[in-house]
Amino acid sequence: MSLKELTSRDAVLTAVQQCDVIDPGAAGAGFTRAFVLELDGKYYHAEKVASLAYKVQHPDRDKLPVSALTGEAAARRLSRLGFASSTTTRVWPPLLGAEYSNRTAIRNAFGGNGVAGITTFLGGGALNIFSDEEGPYADEPPDALNPFEYRGEGREGNQKLLRGNLALDTARRNLEAVRYWYRPAGGTFKFTTWVAILSRTQVWSPDNNKKLRLEYAFQVMAVPGPELATWPDRVRKLIDDGDIKDTPPPQPPAKNATSSQRKKTYQDYLRLIDKSSKAGRGGRKPSKGTRNLYPRSRAVRDAVLVRADGDCENDRCTGMPFDTAPGGKAILEVDHVDDLALSGLDHPSVMIALCPNCHAAKTRGANRAAIKRRFRDRAAELHRKADQ
Ligand SMILES: [Zn+2]
Repeated sequence: MSLKELTSRDAVLTAVQQCDVIDPGAAGAGFTRAFVLELDGKYYHAEKVASLAYKVQHPDRDKLPVSALTGEAAARRLSRLGFASSTTTRVWPPLLGAEYSNRTAIRNAFGGNGVAGITTFLGGGALNIFSDEEGPYADEPPDALNPFEYRGEGREGNQKLLRGNLALDTARRNLEAVRYWYRPAGGTFKFTTWVAILSRTQVWSPDNNKKLRLEYAFQVMAVPGPELATWPDRVRKLIDDGDIKDTPPPQPPAKNATSSQRKKTYQDYLRLIDKSSKAGRGGRKPSKGTRNLYPRSRAVRDAVLVRADGDCENDRCTGMPFDTAPGGKAILEVDHVDDLALSGLDHPSVMIALCPNCHAAKTRGANRAAIKRRFRDRAAELHRKADQ
């Protein structure tokens, strides 16, 4: 008994008459991941059709047990007999805003890997990335208007540009939109938005064993849909679709590092920032002046955090938050003392790491003008001391 013995197109046509049409609106199991046969605008489960068609062609035999054939093999056989086949995911892809209780529910509907952070669904198509607020990765929450960060996959040791990370990087180069799924703490997984992959860089981050390792930080940005024509100019300009060479940033000093060790790392960062700003200015493609902006701004931010060493840099701070960020890092916001758009400078000497309270006072407080003046001097002073 083998699928190869299904060779009659007529037997398939007869079998289809006796099979249920897949109804994507049906409650329950009607709409599940499957390879499908398309006929006259209707869809049928490929294995069920193939299994029954086998009996129609060989009336002296039983149906092929569905358990003995994969949907993929059935679809391939039916294609060979001249039928159109596809997958439920391709025919009824997930709708923007769709919510599922967990990854298993998503896998039941669309197939693919039910655990990996980066995966395609059954039958290929668009890549999906999953971000779980309670997961082990230091992803940023989604942002509708600004670039945000998605961490690559690989739980232990340095992440490599393989599998999911490579697939995501390929989507960046090919300007392919990716489905972005997000689950807030205690919530459900939602297909939140399509995103474009702008760039990638390496960052130091603790792995599962709390050991520092290099992670890929992909910068992504929401786009209206997978069609390139719908992507705003602003997004297109931020996309670095060329080769990106991995340049690991300096390793941040350990929590109990001496001030001279911190100073050394701060200076390593300044050199890296200086180097990348020169590379930016002398770029080969002047039309893409924004290329590689992200790795640089990331290094600038990390430099300020090394300098701050886990504490608010406001010398009149009334206290850090009572909790830490996931992963144990201090909750600090790196701020351009003067709006980046106004000062035009993206450098640690004009930036300050603030706790959320001090940040709010600086942005919304009654004394914000005076606070800003003071922070300008404070940032310059901290920079001078750390760069000596
Ligand atoms: Zn503070």
